[in-house]
Amino acid sequence: MKIDKPCPKCKTIMELKKTTLHFEREGFYADVENVSAYICPKCGTRSIPGKLATGIGKTVENLFKSVRETELSTDKELAPAFSGISFHKVQI
Ligand SMILES: [Zn+2]
Repeated sequence: MKIDKPCPKCKTIMELKKTTLHFEREGFYADVENVSAYICPKCGTRSIPGKLATGIGKTVENLFKSVRETELSTDKELAPAFSGISFHKVQI
């Protein structure tokens, strides 16, 4: 089922595409790849469906929380243990 979703900025009908979301927090970054999002072909505005945005938000928050705990427990000589995580589903 295809829903015509107009761009909130320029009213062009947005296209459902895959995109990569980039998150950055306290010196760490995380990429979430192949996220289904509505993208405006004219001005590039992105819109992630509500449920999906909430799910990704929670996942990334937990990820940053785990990363902080990992770094706090790491030997100071090894810090920073790492600075970014790229997370994606492997296409089989
Ligand atoms: Zn637009």
